[in-house]
Amino acid sequence: MKQRLILAGLWLLLLLPAAALAQAESDALVLRLSRDVGGALGASIQGRFSYRVTGPADLVRVEFLMDGAVIAADSAPPFAFRFDTADFSLGTHRLSARGYTADGRLLQSNELTRQFVPAWRVYALTGGVVLLVVLVQVVTYLTTRPGKGPGRDYGLLGGVVCPYCGHPARIRWWNLTPVAGRLLRCPHCRRWHFSRRATPAMLASAEAFAAELAAEAAAARPEAAADRQRQLDGSRYDR
Ligand SMILES: [Zn+2]
Repeated sequence: MKQRLILAGLWLLLLLPAAALAQAESDALVLRLSRDVGGALGASIQGRFSYRVTGPADLVRVEFLMDGAVIAADSAPPFAFRFDTADFSLGTHRLSARGYTADGRLLQSNELTRQFVPAWRVYALTGGVVLLVVLVQVVTYLTTRPGKGPGRDYGLLGGVVCPYCGHPARIRWWNLTPVAGRLLRCPHCRRWHFSRRATPAMLASAEAFAAELAAEAAAARPEAAADRQRQLDGSRYDR
């Protein structure tokens, strides 16, 4: 019996906050700001915007406030009010709303803080952001540019992998780009091919493949390699 009471008590403890939360949620007055015509960058806005307020079903009146003063009211859903930032002073403003329910409850909305700025500033800021994005892209391109293989640098245009012999090669600016690829002659097998720019991973595997081939070729002709080494050594001592 005692255990049951404790269990019931625990249940009540669990349920009470949930019920309070549900009540609070249904009574919540939510203010959003929508842009109709104009610019917005973070909290900086310029142009025509609208207060948009949602709340409980029995909401009968909403007042729209700017810096604590009522500037408009609406008594039918959708509860909204459009304004122009040009009608107010530049600088920081606090936007909020008050709601009244049919049974006389007063609800306070969340508060939004916005900077009213002149048009040129929104455009200047937007321009700044665009410049920054371009700069980041340029830096990203230069640091991770396609022209870099693990063992070779293929330059700004990057490299291709020959579809015939599998060797990597550098793209030159004079290699034609008829559609989306480069027409060039493989420096290894001398065949013409039309290839898209290779990814760094493709170039890496092509380099490994080429190195393997070269090693195999050297191993197949040990005398020739030894001769070449002797010649090299000889020339070194001649000097
Ligand atoms: Zn080739």
